[in-house]
Amino acid sequence: MNSSLAFAPAPLEGRSVDATRERLLWGIGADVDEVALIRREQAVLEARAVGLLAEAARKANWLAALPGGSLEHSRRSLVAEVATALHVPESTASQRIDDAETLTDFLPVTLASLARGDIGYAHAQSVVRQARTLPEGARGEFEAVATAKAESQTPSQLAAHARAVRERMHPESIDVRHREARDERAVWLEKERDGMATLVCHLSAVDAFAIDDTLDQLGRALRSPEESRTHAQLRADGLVELLLHRDGDTAARARGITANVVVTVPVLTLLGRSMRAGELQGYGPIPVEAARRLAAGAPSFLRILTDPITGQRLSVGRDRYKVPADLRAAVVLDDETCRFPGCVRRADRCDLDHTTDWARGGETGLDNLAALCRRHHTLKHQTGWQVEAGEGRALHWRSPSGARHTTRPPERGGPPPPAQPPSPPAATRHLPDHPPF
Ligand SMILES: [Zn+2]
Repeated sequence: MNSSLAFAPAPLEGRSVDATRERLLWGIGADVDEVALIRREQAVLEARAVGLLAEAARKANWLAALPGGSLEHSRRSLVAEVATALHVPESTASQRIDDAETLTDFLPVTLASLARGDIGYAHAQSVVRQARTLPEGARGEFEAVATAKAESQTPSQLAAHARAVRERMHPESIDVRHREARDERAVWLEKERDGMATLVCHLSAVDAFAIDDTLDQLGRALRSPEESRTHAQLRADGLVELLLHRDGDTAARARGITANVVVTVPVLTLLGRSMRAGELQGYGPIPVEAARRLAAGAPSFLRILTDPITGQRLSVGRDRYKVPADLRAAVVLDDETCRFPGCVRRADRCDLDHTTDWARGGETGLDNLAALCRRHHTLKHQTGWQVEAGEGRALHWRSPSGARHTTRPPERGGPPPPAQPPSPPAATRHLPDHPPF
C-alpha cells in the first residue's frame, strides 16, 4: 500500500491545513520520541549484558585458579559458550567479553552512562577500543575527557574524539609510538564473493589521508554530465588506472592533482623548542617530526601555526588562500565537518551557510557562517528545520517537530602538556633522513 495515500486524507477531515500540519508534526515528534525511548531501554539492557559477561569472565578466571585449572582453556571455553549461545563468531564473542571486562574494571563513567541509557553500546565500544591500548593508570583521566560530550555525539564522532584524546594523553610520545606502529605498514588482500576483493592499506595517517584526498579530487575531476559512474566508482577506477595503467587518461589527469591535507603545527614545535604534536585535520595528533616536515615546505599542505599557550590559531597560511577565501578557510578549519547534528561530511566539501540569512541582516563573518553539506544546506532552507547561532559558534537546531540539538566546532588546542625536554637545535636538519610522508 502507498503509505502517503494511507495517511494523507484522514487528518484533513474537518480541520484546517495549519491544524493538520501541526497535528502531523506533533505525531512525528511523538513517534520519534518513542523510538528514542526504545533506544534508551536497549542501552540499559546492553549494560546488564556487559555486567553479566564480566561476571562470567570472573568466574572463568576463578575456575582456572582451581587445582588443575588452566586460564587459557577456561577462557577459551567461555568464549565458545558465549559464541554458541548468541550465534556469533568466536572472535565477536571474545571481543564482547574483553569489552565487558574493560568497561567494568576501568571505565565506570562509560558503563554508568550506558546503564542510564544516555549512550548506546556502539558509543561504549568507541571508548573501550581506545582505552584498552592505554596503560591502566591513564584510563581514568582518558575516560573523563573522552566521554565529556558522548551523549550528544554519534558513535563515529565519539570514536574520532576518543582517538584524538588517547593520542594526547598517552604517556609515551606519539613519535615513539608512531615509529613502532609505522613498522606495521602493509597492504593486503581480502577475498570477497562474486569475483570481488578488497585491498587494504595500513599506512601512516598522513599518507593515507593524502592518497584518499587525491582519489577524491580525481573522482570529482572525472565527473561530467555524460558520466554515469558514482563518485565511489570513479575513485575506485582512478586508483586502478593510477596503479595499473600509468599512461591512461586518469593517470594523466592525476599528474595535475596535489593532495590537499591540512596540518596544524604549534609554533614552538616548528621552531624546534617543543615536542608538542601537530594535528592532521580530520584525524588528530601526528608525530612531531612529520608535522615539522610538512610545515617546513611541502607545497600541498596548508599549514596553520598555533599559539603555544592557548592553542588558538595565530595565522592561516596565505600561500594558497586570498581574502575572502581565507574566511572560508577559517570556517572550514574550525568546523572540520558539516555542522548538522551527527553529520561527518568533511567541511571542505561543504557549502558555507549564513546561519542568519544575509537577507535578514546576517553578516558574512566567522560567527555567522557554518559549513553545511549540500544535503543539510537544502534541508535547512527547504524544510522546517531552524538554526540559531550561539556562543562560541555553537549552532542551536530545532526540528520541525520541536526537538532541539546543539552542535559545536570540535575542540582543539587547550593548554599544552607538561614541559617537555627541548629537542636538539639541529633536529630539523635530521628530517630528510626519515622516509617521506
Ligand atoms: Zn551534513
